[in-house]
Amino acid sequence: MSRYLFTPPPTPSLPIRGLDERFPVYRLFFVGRNYQAHAAEMGLSVDKSVDPAFYFTKSPHALVQSGSLVPYPLRTENYHHEMELVVVLGQSGSHVSEAQAGDLIYGYAAGLDMTRRDLQQAARQQGRPWDVSKDVEQGAVCSDIVPMPGVVLERGAIELAVNGVTRQSSDLKHMIWNIREIIADLSTYYHLQPGDLIYTGTPEGVGPVVPGDVLHGRVEGVAEVSLTLGPTQR
Ligand code: MN
Repeated sequence: MSRYLFTPPPTPSLPIRGLDERFPVYRLFFVGRNYQAHAAEMGLSVDKSVDPAFYFTKSPHALVQSGSLVPYPLRTENYHHEMELVVVLGQSGSHVSEAQAGDLIYGYAAGLDMTRRDLQQAARQQGRPWDVSKDVEQGAVCSDIVPMPGVVLERGAIELAVNGVTRQSSDLKHMIWNIREIIADLSTYYHLQPGDLIYTGTPEGVGPVVPGDVLHGRVEGVAEVSLTLGPTQR
């Protein structure tokens, strides 16, 4: 039994639908630009024949459970919602084939990849890292986890409303890199582990939120996710 200098933070975790146990979260991976219409609204286009998929990460301590009230974050004036399907891994794998990729899947969740868009755009223009724009405290929102072992989702509505007004509405079938391709490719960068979450990118319709806003999203056949924004806390 180790003794620590101070009490370490608790292991990030999420509820699992239908089980008493919580799901311990190890890492948070995110796919960048995985819907053509979202890339277009960012002023970009993706040519899958030459552009590799790319990824970024957030600290697992940025994870916040659906239904939370979180403060509007510091150092941004353009905080954006990105509604995403989250793939939840329950098995380890390295250099897995697309055919084997489904074996790693424990289930799915509905998530929000909250983004300081102003800082992201500045980073893009200056060729700097995205970390402060993406790895925002309480900026990785996730629903309960829905066990669907081995199931590879290929379609389903994905939607987000702010204060009851629909902002994002698309379908998982529009992902540029599908779930098998994402898992196989990401497993060539990382030894994927149980507890890894992969946010699979957002469709078009991203936009700003302000204190007082209530976000409500859903992925058809998976789950719903919600978030309420409060005032900034210094
Ligand atoms: Mn995203």
